[in-house]
Amino acid sequence: MRLSRYFLPLLKETPAEAQIVSHRLMLRAGLIRQEAAGIYAWLPLGIRVLNKIKEIVHEEMNRAGAIEILMPTLQSADLWRESGRYEAYGKEMLRIKDRHDRELLYGPTNEEMVTEIFRGYVRSYKSLPLNLYHTQWKFRDEVRPRFGVMRGREFLMKDAYSFDIDKEAARKSYNRMYVAYLRTFARMGLKSIPMRAETGPIGGDLSHEFIVLADTGESQVFCHSDLLDMPIPGEDTDFDGDLEPIIKSRTDLYAATEDVHDQDRFEAEVPEGKRLSARGIEVGQVFYFGTKYSAPMKAVVAGPDGKEVPVEMGSYGIGVSRLVGAIIEASHDEAGIIWPEPVAPFDVALINLKSGDAATDAACEDIYARLTKAGVEVLYDDTDERPGAKFASMELIGIPHQLIVGPRGLKAGVVEVKNRATGAKEELSMDAAVNRFAPA
Ligand code: ATP
Ligand code: MG
Repeated sequence: MRLSRYFLPLLKETPAEAQIVSHRLMLRAGLIRQEAAGIYAWLPLGIRVLNKIKEIVHEEMNRAGAIEILMPTLQSADLWRESGRYEAYGKEMLRIKDRHDRELLYGPTNEEMVTEIFRGYVRSYKSLPLNLYHTQWKFRDEVRPRFGVMRGREFLMKDAYSFDIDKEAARKSYNRMYVAYLRTFARMGLKSIPMRAETGPIGGDLSHEFIVLADTGESQVFCHSDLLDMPIPGEDTDFDGDLEPIIKSRTDLYAATEDVHDQDRFEAEVPEGKRLSARGIEVGQVFYFGTKYSAPMKAVVAGPDGKEVPVEMGSYGIGVSRLVGAIIEASHDEAGIIWPEPVAPFDVALINLKSGDAATDAACEDIYARLTKAGVEVLYDDTDERPGAKFASMELIGIPHQLIVGPRGLKAGVVEVKNRATGAKEELSMDAAVNRFAPA
């Protein structure tokens, strides 16, 4: 992408309304624009990051055996009357009437709808286990939308729903999502800790919140500090195998959100030097809630004995749009964002220090063409801004690698490669620089 033809609206001033660093940087780096309280438009750089996050989430869902669908944002109120949640959900639900006065709502979550889909087709335990997921915009009319995309009213969530014949099978489905979540967040460069959590209005009796530690987080959490450095299950994890040991290695150590925290137990179980009490951001949650929806909504399946039983369910959410903010909270410096490579909007920032200088332009065009052809995503700053302004912009938007090309270096046959995270700089020949990012 050539910057001269791109749409990258950077802000010079720090927006006054933004209270936390990720919100400030998302506005300044031109990722989002607020359209109403808690409602954001995603600008070109922002949507690239959002899509990368979503792709990682989907890859890990698929690996764990979940199947993608897409449910609509609008749902019928009657569906929610079946579960009894239409009234119970209260003011957070955005209720809408169509021209025929039919009651609709903008979905805050999808348990009811996915249960309705399931009961329309599945009759036998032989079709189980089944896990259906989608990534779709949700609306919750939060009292206090704040911190940008961290607590929006409209936000993007991946939600998965598991269906099983009995509790034991449901537990296995739960474990698959738990392990998938460990992998998902680690791939984005985040250290997430699963913590025992209250099940809240969704109900049920087994739940973990995945927390990323950050001072600006809205949750108070307590855990054994060893949980920060546990090994992440590898790509070769057998999701059909026994995942219980992976889960147990973590649940053996104390970790709880404030709602279920027990200070006496914390002090009894965790050595003083390992007691971590901190703020955290909830990036995902896994729930097992049994037949809470399937029973009232009559989603039943015949077991091996021919008897019909309500299907055992769980739901599994990830805050896809919240993650953009969470990643920035975890990875930034004074100058701006530092994207972990897997979610970076571009791989390489190519900086032309003297646009209009024939030799510099030619070298940049050559590098740009070769990298692009190799599938490397390059943002090429071909504008005639001053070098200082170009550097500041690239530091702000946080592309992991900068490739800096100027007349002085070219005379000596070199270009400069700079790592955004470490600040380390290297001088390389043009070929070596291209090779670094696009190995032949
Ligand atoms: P919170 O406690 O932060 O309000 P929640 O527990 O109500 O969240 P869930 O129903 O568990 O949310 O939704 C799944 C995920 O969606 C959460 O883990 C979070 O990452 C994300 N999420 C929830 N509410 C919001 C919001 N208002 N803005 C952005 N992301 C959200
Ligand atoms: Mg939650």
